[in-house]
Formats: sequence, structure tokens, C-alpha cells
Amino acid sequence: MRNPAVLTETVGHYATGDRGTVDAAVDAAARAFSGWSAVSPRSRAEALSEAAAAIDDEHAELTLLLTREHGKVTADAAAEITNSARTLRYYAGLADRVAHERVTEDFRGRIIERRVAMGVVAVIVPWNYPVLLATLMVAPALMAGNSVVVKLPDYAPLALSLVLRHLAAALPSGVVNVVAGTGEEVGLALTTHRRVRKVSFTGSTATGRTIMRDASVNLKNLSLELGGNDPAVILESASLNSIMVDELVRGAFTSTGQVCYAPKRLYVHSKHFSDFVEAFSDAANRLVVGDGRDPDVRMGPLNNAPQRQVVTDLIATSLREGAQVRELGQFSGGDMSDGYFVRPTVVTGLSHDSPLMTQEQFGPVVPIMPFDTEDDAIAMANDSEYGLAASIWSDDVDHAFDLGRRIEAGSVFVNIHRVGASDSSMPFGGFKQSGIGRGHGVVALEESTEIQVLADRV
Ligand code: NAD
Repeated sequence: MRNPAVLTETVGHYATGDRGTVDAAVDAAARAFSGWSAVSPRSRAEALSEAAAAIDDEHAELTLLLTREHGKVTADAAAEITNSARTLRYYAGLADRVAHERVTEDFRGRIIERRVAMGVVAVIVPWNYPVLLATLMVAPALMAGNSVVVKLPDYAPLALSLVLRHLAAALPSGVVNVVAGTGEEVGLALTTHRRVRKVSFTGSTATGRTIMRDASVNLKNLSLELGGNDPAVILESASLNSIMVDELVRGAFTSTGQVCYAPKRLYVHSKHFSDFVEAFSDAANRLVVGDGRDPDVRMGPLNNAPQRQVVTDLIATSLREGAQVRELGQFSGGDMSDGYFVRPTVVTGLSHDSPLMTQEQFGPVVPIMPFDTEDDAIAMANDSEYGLAASIWSDDVDHAFDLGRRIEAGSVFVNIHRVGASDSSMPFGGFKQSGIGRGHGVVALEESTEIQVLADRV
């Protein structure tokens, strides 16, 4: 693995596997399943808490490793490690919700409705928040009594593999297993494996479609947390002040825009449009770009070369279409070509069907469009195949909540739209092609179980 901020720096190495490695991992998980599913929820919770404590103990090392392999700034990497330990504790705290059994008895007999673990759950995650996204899928699966096989992402696998090592050490042997390799070989082997009962996938919509097709071979349960192209709607009733602008800048450029639920299309009421574009561009221009280990740096590079290509192609297309493209930010030391850097970029003058408006660009490029009526804004916000998240900005919070009900998205935030707006207790997932099922919260625990009914009614 190379550091995306300093391409000459090797961060570490990891071994990749193949179909045989997947068979061995699934076998180990299947063997461990019956023992683990019989362990009491309280004991499972203790094991998860023990792993969380081990992660806390190694917080500084994990943060540095994640910064170096991913490119994100230290504060973002630190928050990711903190939140993944917190997620383990959150699910440990749900121990009493696990052993769910409802008995109904009347003159016709008895019905027992219970939730039972599924078996082996395959967890496949992307590189953008590898540690947190894996923990969000692994923790509820384990608390529900399943065993897991996690496939590491192709980029940024190292900090996650250490976190999973802590988890594996705290749990009985075989409950947590890790494989690495390409999606086409190792991923496919998991999603088609006869003994895998569920695939929990976070990643792009394109891969989600492939996984849904492949998982049909041996018919598996699926959780799909997929791509997004989130709108942020700034209403006439919003005060255009530095708090609002800074929040949106933070939302759009955290982790260099490589966040599934970052604001990726900004719709601004025409009364505020020019002032907003100036204020937003000024704030973006103040961002210091560079190596995430530098405490002054607010935005690192993109994580990998294909991702940079996607983003630079979208900028080039926007320019060809005659849009105004402002490449901003202050570069700190070194040279842009030392890593996969792209400056914070603000784009105006696009048509609504331009690729930058319709595709998930997953980078630090923010198109801004004006609107005149709220109906127009809602129509444009909903004019997307994606429906992951959205935000509405207004001083009239009640009105913003009302308008939010008209947005086709799994999460609608009011006056906030950034990492942290959703936490592990809030159900999270997408409408339309942004996914199937809901992660986080109690619902993720429930979606890690099957419902069994025992009945003797006549
Ligand atoms: P990706 O879909 O390319 O890869 C994700 C994972 O899937 C990787 O581990 C990859 O190796 C594996 N994979 C690829 N092909 C596979 C196959 N045929 N079978 C099984 N596994 C396969 O996504 P990415 O580029 O790593 O991540 C970015 C995407 O993830 C963006 O679209 C982003 O929006 C999305 N994402 C969604 C959420 C959410 O919660 N909805 C969160 C974070 C990221």
C-alpha cells in the first residue's frame, strides 16, 4: 500500500487470497457458528466491549495508519477509530434486545415467535471509511449471534485488518474471519458461497447490482448500502451566515468529498445565489490541502488513482460544457503531483443533466445551481436515481422538516449535512438505487436475524 499523499511512501503490505481462502474462512465461520449463537447476549456484549477497549488502547497507532493508507486528515481518521469502538459499545448495549421471544397462548394452542441468528454473514466494505463501515455491519451481525467473514477493501485495508484482529482475539476462534483479494475473485466467491446466509455490502451501486445478481445463485439475504448523490437545498428563509457556509464546506470537503452522504449538489434560492457562491468559494479557498498528518491540513488527497480519474474527468466535462470552474484551496508544502490531489472545486453554470449533477462524483467538486420556487428545488433534488441522504437549510426549522418529507432519501438532515449527522443509533440506508435494507440502530440487529415461529395451533 502506498500513501496517497506521498506516493513514494510505502505504508505496508498485505496478503491477498483466492477462492480457496474464502472456502477455509467460511468453513471456520460455519464451525464456530453453533457455539457462538449459543453464547448469551450478555457474554457476546462483554466480548465486543473488550474489543472496543483494545481499539481504544491502540487509538493513536490506528489513527496514524489509517491516515497514511487512506489520505484523510488525522482528525477524521481519529474520529473514525473512536466511532468504530463506540459502535461496538452501542451494539453491546443492545444485549437485552437480542434474545427476542414472544409467546402467545390461548385455547387453540401456543405460538412462539423468536429471532434467531442466520449463520455465516459475509461483510464487504469500501475503502472510504473502511474501519467504521465494517464495524457498523460486523457489530450487529455478531451481537445477533452470527459468525462473520469480512472482505477487506482493495484500498485502505490495513487499519481495518488490525481492528478485526482485536475483535477476533476477543471472541471464540473462527467467529471473526478476514479475507482479502479482488471483488471479482474473492468477493464473488463469498457472494455465491453455499454456506453464506447473508451478504452485508457497502459500496457502489454498480457493485451492488452485481452482488444482487450473484447472490441469487444460492439465494442469500442482502443488505445493500450503496452510492449517493445528495442534494442540499438552501431555502430563501435561510440566513446566509458563516456558520451555515462553514457547515456546508465541512460537509462537502470532509475526507476530500469521499463520503457516501456528503452534499454533492447544492441548490440555492436565487435571492442568495451569488452571495452564497462567493461565501462558499471563499471558505473553500481557505482550506489547506496536503498530507493529512500535517495538523494545519484540512483536506487530503483522493484515495486512489481511479478515483482521481473519475473526478478530473468530471471537471474536464464540466469545462467543455462551458461551466465556470473554480479550483481553490491553499496547497501546503510539497507538490500536487506528490499524491492524488485535487483542489476543492466549485462549479456553476451547469445544466441539470450534466454528468457532474447526475453521477456520484465522490470527490471535492461541488456544483451549485439556483432555484426560484421550493417546488422547483424539490423536483431537482428528487431528479436522481440515488436517494441516500439530503439536507434542507432554513431558519424555519419546522418548515424544513415539512419539506423534508417530500424528499426521496433515506435520511434528510436539517441545517447539517456531514459525517456525524447520522450516528450508529439512527437507521441509515437509501431509497431508489442507493440501497436495500437499513443499517445502524436496532434495525441492523433485526436484519441480522431470521424470524422463526413455533406453533401448535389447530
Ligand atoms: P466498490 O463497489 O467498487 O467496492 C466495494 C467493495 O466491493 C470492495 O471491497 C470491492 O473489492 C468489492 N467488490 C467489487 N466487486 C465485487 C464483486 N463483483 N463481488 C463482491 N465484491 C466486490 O466501491 P468503492 O469504490 O470501494 O467505494 C465507494 C462507493 O461506496 C461509493 O459509491 C459510495 O457512495 C459507496 N458507499 C456507500 C455507503 C453507504 O452507507 N450507503 C457508505 C460508504 C460508501
